[in-house]
Amino acid sequence: MLYPEVRNYVAGQFVHSTAQTLEVISPLDGSLLSTVPLSGQQELDEAVKAAQTAFPKWSAMPIKERVQIFFRYKTLLEQNLEELTELVHHENGKTIGEARAELEKSIELTEFACSLPQLVAGEILEVSTGVECRLEKKAIGVVASIAPFNFPNMVPHWTIPNAIALGNCMILKPSEKVPISANRIAELLTDAGLPAGVFNVVNGGQEIVEAICDHPDIQAVSFVGSTKIAKVVYRRATNNLKRCVALGGAKNHIIVLPDANIGLTAAGVAASMSGCAGQRCMAGSAMLGVGPIDNIIEKIAEEARNIVPGQNLGAVISKEAKERIERYISEAEKSGAKVLVDGRNVTVQGKENGYYVGPTIIDFVTPDMAIAKEEVFGPVLAIIRAKTLDEALQIENQSEYGNAASVFTQSGGLARYVMENASAGMIGVNVGVPVPREPFSFGGWNESKFGTCDITGKSSIEFWTQMKKTTTKWNPEAGINWMS
Ligand code: NAD
Repeated sequence: MLYPEVRNYVAGQFVHSTAQTLEVISPLDGSLLSTVPLSGQQELDEAVKAAQTAFPKWSAMPIKERVQIFFRYKTLLEQNLEELTELVHHENGKTIGEARAELEKSIELTEFACSLPQLVAGEILEVSTGVECRLEKKAIGVVASIAPFNFPNMVPHWTIPNAIALGNCMILKPSEKVPISANRIAELLTDAGLPAGVFNVVNGGQEIVEAICDHPDIQAVSFVGSTKIAKVVYRRATNNLKRCVALGGAKNHIIVLPDANIGLTAAGVAASMSGCAGQRCMAGSAMLGVGPIDNIIEKIAEEARNIVPGQNLGAVISKEAKERIERYISEAEKSGAKVLVDGRNVTVQGKENGYYVGPTIIDFVTPDMAIAKEEVFGPVLAIIRAKTLDEALQIENQSEYGNAASVFTQSGGLARYVMENASAGMIGVNVGVPVPREPFSFGGWNESKFGTCDITGKSSIEFWTQMKKTTTKWNPEAGINWMS
C-alpha cells in the first residue's frame, strides 16, 4: 500500500476501528492505495461526544482568535502543496495540474474564512429611548459535512474553514472512494493549533451517512454528491429537524451562438467537458449549438483530439464509471447520434489496469436521448442542434438540474438574454466553467441543490450561524413605554 491505512480522527487522535474495511484503489493504475473503515453508530457517537466536549470553549473564543488558526493552516497548505497535490492525483485519478488547481482552491477557501471577522460583525440600534437591540451571529453546535469523490481536498474545504471559524465543531464524512486526503487535512489542522475535538473525521458509506442524519446531537448537515442521495439526505436530516443544505448532480448546458469567437469557444468548451475527466458538477456536458456553427464544432473536435488520456486527461473513478460512460456513448450512437471523437476502449500504456475514457464529442444528439438529459460524469460532450436561441433556452430550462449554464457569443445583448433566462444558479458568459470565486457563493438551482443557503462564500455564514437578538435598557429614568 502506498499510504498507511485510513483511520477515523476523533478528539485529536487517529483511532483504530474494528469495522469492516474497504480497499482504496487508485484509478490511475488500479493499484491498492490504502484501506478505509466502514464505521457505524458507535464510532459516530464517539466523534459527536468529542465535538460536543470541545464546543463550549471553541465557540466562546473570539472569532478573531479562531481565525488565527486558519491563517496558520493556509500557510501549511501552501508549504505542503506538492504532497497534497500528489495525494489527490493518486486517490482521485485527476492530472497533477488539476490536483494542484484543486489545492489552490482549498487555499482560497481558507483565505475567505480568515476574512470572516470582517463579515460577521453584528448590528446595534437604539430602538427607543435608552433601549438598544443588538444582533450577533452565533455558532450552532456540532455540525456534519458529507463529501463526494470528485474533489477529495476542495469539497471538504467548502465547509471546514467557514463552519469551524464561525465557532462550530465538525464531523467530516469523506467519500469512501477517496478518504486519504481527509486524514492529512486533520493532521494539518491540528498542526495549525486547532484544539482536539473541534474537527473529527468518521469514515464509511451509507450506514454512517444515515446515522449522521439521525443523530440527535448534530445540528446541521451539509451534503455534496449525486441528486439521488442528496434527496435522501435532505429529507432524512430535515425530517429529524436539522438544518440541511444538500448539493446534487448536474447537467450543464453550453449555448454556442454562431457569432462566438471560434478559438475561445473551442478551447473553453473542450476544457469544460474534459477537465477532471468530466467528473465535475460544473462540467459542460451538453452543448446547444444555435444555427450554422459547423466551423466551431470542427474546431472543438480538433481541440478534443489533442486531449490524451494518461497525459492531459486523467482517469475516471472506477471500472463501473468507465462502463457507465461508454454505455451512454453507445446508446446515443445506436439512437442515431454521430460520434465525431470516440473515447471508448482506450488504454494507457503501462497503466492498463487504470480506468480511462478518451475525450468524446457526439453530434446530432436529440433532447429525448438519455445522454442529453442524464448526468454522464465523464469526458463526453453531447451536441444538440437548435434553430434559435429560444429553442436552446427551452431545452436548458427543461433540465431537472440547474447547476450551471454558459453562453459563448460576442453579442452583449444575447449574453444578457441568456443570463436572464437560463434556469441555473451559476451562469458563464464566454466562460466554460463558471465557478464563482470567493466571496461569491457556490450553489445551483432546481435538483442541483436542496436547502436555502449556498455552501460557500457569504451565503454560507447564514447556514453555519444562528442569530441572537438582545434588547438592553440601563436608564430607569426613561420609564416604561409600550414595548419595554
Ligand atoms: P454520491 O452521491 O454517490 O456520494 C456522495 C456521498 O454520499 C459519499 O460520501 C457517499 O459515501 C455517500 N453515499 C453514497 N450512497 C449513499 C446512500 N445510499 N445513502 C447514504 N449515503 C450515501 O456521489 P459521488 O459519486 O461521490 O459524487 C459524484 C456526484 O456528486 C455527481 O452527481 C456530482 O455532480 C455531484 N457533485 C455535486 C457538486 C455540487 O456542487 N452540486 C459538487 C461535487 C459533486
